Amino acid sequence: KNILVILGFSCVISMIVLIAVGISQNKPLPQNVKYGIVLDAGSSHTSLYIYSWPSEKENDTGIVQQIEECQVAGPGISKYAHKLQEIGDYLAECMERTRYVIPVSKHHETPIYLGATAGMRLLRMESEQLADRVIGAVIRTLSTYPFNFQGATIITGQEEGAYGWITINYLLGSFFQNSGWLSGISEKMNHEKTFGALDLGGASTQITFVPENHTTESPENSLQFRLYGKDYYVYTHSFLCYGKDQALWQKLAKDIQVSSGRSLRDPCFHTGYKKVVNVSDLYKTPCTKKFKKTLPFDEFQIQGTGNYEQCQQSILELFNTGDCPYSQCAFNGIYLPPIQGNFGAFSAFYFVMNFFNLTSEKVSQEEAIRKIRNFCSQPWNEVSSSFPGIKEKYLSEYCFSGTYILSLLLHGYHFTSKSWENIHFMGKIEKSSAGWTLGYMLNLTNMIPAEQPFTAPLYHS
Ligand code: AMP
Repeated sequence: KNILVILGFSCVISMIVLIAVGISQNKPLPQNVKYGIVLDAGSSHTSLYIYSWPSEKENDTGIVQQIEECQVAGPGISKYAHKLQEIGDYLAECMERTRYVIPVSKHHETPIYLGATAGMRLLRMESEQLADRVIGAVIRTLSTYPFNFQGATIITGQEEGAYGWITINYLLGSFFQNSGWLSGISEKMNHEKTFGALDLGGASTQITFVPENHTTESPENSLQFRLYGKDYYVYTHSFLCYGKDQALWQKLAKDIQVSSGRSLRDPCFHTGYKKVVNVSDLYKTPCTKKFKKTLPFDEFQIQGTGNYEQCQQSILELFNTGDCPYSQCAFNGIYLPPIQGNFGAFSAFYFVMNFFNLTSEKVSQEEAIRKIRNFCSQPWNEVSSSFPGIKEKYLSEYCFSGTYILSLLLHGYHFTSKSWENIHFMGKIEKSSAGWTLGYMLNLTNMIPAEQPFTAPLYHS
């Protein structure tokens, strides 16, 4: 009798087990998701990005996606050189958000990186010790969180250019044929070709692309990658001091040199706009060193005159096109091979062109010039009342920024009205921001294999 009871009982148990197995076989198992965090410590601000991907597919292309972006309130980290004790509070809000977004069980295995760009390169030029102290304070802060801290460093301009190029081409699916989840532009593109990358920050700007010709005249501008079984010969250059904030400082320092008196009539600002500039702020940055002059006053006033042509003329004086030791240069004697193929233009290229509604594919170079010229000619009181929601700092500088972007692309990099059509202004590709951070993480976590994975990823259609 006892044996019968035990047999009956074990039958019931077996049935429960079989049903449970059956259910779990019909239902997809919960995916094992991994996470990664990168902080972009830019010259004007810091942004934190959280990425995630299914762990079993981490070597496939187009798999990693941005799931969160957090803007750290306040300026760039280089501004904390004399208040290191505040760096903890500065980063706290975005770090707490990150703790909340990433499941607790994954915290300890989630890598976190911080890369600082041209704002910190400039601080290091002023004082290596100050830059080291800022990075040290950042390392101490980030190490207190439960994530797998991988380092905080100042990345080179070359790295910034290269990782921006990797990011957009990874997201556009250029490294792999038949990628399924691509945006409109990339579906039109030939998958054999990569997009060039144009990145504009506050302190530097990068141009990176695969030139027509492999042989390079300037080894410091050439990179070679083997990605998914293909070799890429890439040109890159980062122009320090040619981000839009430092370019403006340069322009002001150049113009005040030859101006008489405490007021500077400036065509890159709207008529009626006035702003006081502190001379010690002007000369603080290494970017204005070549224009430094002893001035008989501590501050001067900018008075806008709102004229696109004159503004462009003044900006063009920042591009030295005289000496070129190569077959072709951008400016300041820096080698630039002939522009070739499609380009993704992001960061401040996108912010500014988006303000002007000039990011659509159909906008010609002539139309862009017309729109920016017209904007520059509007008086400041009209502009400020037309855009009440926009920060005054950005709004007052859009005339300069728009003119600077056109000058840099058309005169600095020699884009023509034909090749202009190949520039695609992009903020995000699908859900991920265009910028260097994703490429940086993919590289440091070894997620882009040199050789093509044996089977095509199931994820792609
Ligand atoms: P960085 O901090 O070096 O990455 O540079 C970002 C640049 O973009 C800085 O010049 C910022 O002032 C600028 N920027 C950020 N957001 C906007 C915006 N909405 N409109 C115009 N410029 C912006």
